[in-house]
Amino acid sequence: MVKSLNNIRQEFPILDQIVNDEPLIYLDNAATTQKPQAVIDAIVDYYQTDNANVHRGVHTLAERATEQYEAARQKVQRFINADQSAEIIFTKGTTQSLNWVASHFGPQVVQAGDEILISYMEHHSNLVPWQQLAQQTGAKLVYIDLLPDGQLDLADAKAKIGPRTKIVSLTHASNVLGVVNPIQAIAQLVHQFGNYLVVDGAQAIPHMPVDVQDLDADFYAFSGHKMLGPTGIGVLYGKKTLLEQVTPVEYGGEMIDFVELQQSTFKELPWRLEGGTPNIEGAIALGAAIDYLNQIGMAQIQAHEQALVAKAIPALQTIDGLTIYGPQNAQDRTGVIAFNLDNLHPHDLATALDMEGVAVRAGHHCAQPLMKWLNVAATARASSIYIIRKPMLINWFKQFKPQRSFSKMALSKLDNLYRQVILDHSQHPHHHGHLDTVDHEIELRNPTCGDVLQLEIALQDGKISQIAFSGEGCTISQASASMMTDAVLGKTPAQAETMIERFSDMMIGDRPDEDWEILEDAAILQGVQQFPARIKCATLAWKALHKALISDQHSAVSGQIVNHAETEETD
Ligand code: PLP
Repeated sequence: MVKSLNNIRQEFPILDQIVNDEPLIYLDNAATTQKPQAVIDAIVDYYQTDNANVHRGVHTLAERATEQYEAARQKVQRFINADQSAEIIFTKGTTQSLNWVASHFGPQVVQAGDEILISYMEHHSNLVPWQQLAQQTGAKLVYIDLLPDGQLDLADAKAKIGPRTKIVSLTHASNVLGVVNPIQAIAQLVHQFGNYLVVDGAQAIPHMPVDVQDLDADFYAFSGHKMLGPTGIGVLYGKKTLLEQVTPVEYGGEMIDFVELQQSTFKELPWRLEGGTPNIEGAIALGAAIDYLNQIGMAQIQAHEQALVAKAIPALQTIDGLTIYGPQNAQDRTGVIAFNLDNLHPHDLATALDMEGVAVRAGHHCAQPLMKWLNVAATARASSIYIIRKPMLINWFKQFKPQRSFSKMALSKLDNLYRQVILDHSQHPHHHGHLDTVDHEIELRNPTCGDVLQLEIALQDGKISQIAFSGEGCTISQASASMMTDAVLGKTPAQAETMIERFSDMMIGDRPDEDWEILEDAAILQGVQQFPARIKCATLAWKALHKALISDQHSAVSGQIVNHAETEETD
């Protein structure tokens, strides 16, 4: 029976809640989708009635668990129209699937001097594994250009694919631009030289019918959690003849036939590549997610999503100062819409929307080379809106009346976070720029959002005599840097360290009544504690100062300039 789209929202229990006094509107599906009750029930049922290990017991529960696990594999096979279920390998997700191909198939076909071709729009999961393979083999990693609207430049792909292009690995749909790539055309180009096409299907599989035989992909990777299934389960599809060449990643139980003291024989596909106890409930629940998607129908999902995007794009285009990345036509994209608003950092925008109960992602979306190509540090992103009823979406966009300044509306929602003094510091930062003479400089990044802060310090008579910062960041990180530079100017490194410790105590927030006066203006940032995702923004400048001062102790003897460019902020 075909499921009507009208009541679908009610089947996602998590969506029935109030967030920040507003009904939740979840627009972060490209990061992970919410789960319908049917998927949650499948997990609970499995544990309540059938839980046992697969492929090894002879008792009834073991047989039931095995049957369901293998039935899930067949559901996946049918869902993507693979030729046989042996071509479906359960993995942790897209990242693992792509890594396995790069590290356990790649070295067999790629040699020094060969080329691996990817595009500028790849997610890091479809970029870093190929970088590694290129480094290990001496092959060259080459990038297909994008057209100005973000679509893949097919002419460039044609020009770059040649006999030395041993592997092309491409995303089927971009997690930022929403563009859908011409996989079939690329497959033809690659196959004419007898080489291989790997497809990252993470952002395509939830949005459109996928037929791997029709696409002629040699490998196709995707994640359960982005298609209404649970986390920790994903799929690597491969043509059987190619999967047979993939060396096992893990040896142990489940994947062997006979083990002798000095050698072993391995099972046939697909189990040869599934060492150890697999994610049984994950696979079964992924099967339930596929059943659910099939009840709606992937063609209907695609059509509905395009109708929503066709409304969303023009509505967004009416907002002053809003830039949408990627093609502007609904038919050229999926329901992933990345955007930025002038004068408002995407982090601030996402926090403002969160105050309205709207969950969007802000950051570099694990696509830093694409952010560079777009010439932005980060974007906001509303994604995969197929489970929203149209009236709800339209209401949401109605809030963005062009004559109203969205930035002001957003900021007024954030009283606690954005006190006037914070806004003043971020709009007119103190000590912003560069010093003529620098004793210590450091660059620190916040990898989750792409914020970057450069700090320069000059010392005289054992005191911080000059300090300056530059870089890009949200309201909070810029204000915090401005306040920090005010507070520590003229202090000794030891005094500054005490202030850093105090700031860190304040952010931890377990001493609410403490007097933070020593931090001067920065004491106002105490309110950031209520927004845990923003604490890293507030602490970036202070951590940079700490690292610079530590380097000061190390370099005190030599008196050299310490330059820590590219130092990463990871915690
Ligand atoms: N590829 C794309 C295009 C993605 O959007 C993502 C996740 O956002 C991935 C790969 C990685 O997926 P996972 O984290 O589930 O392995």
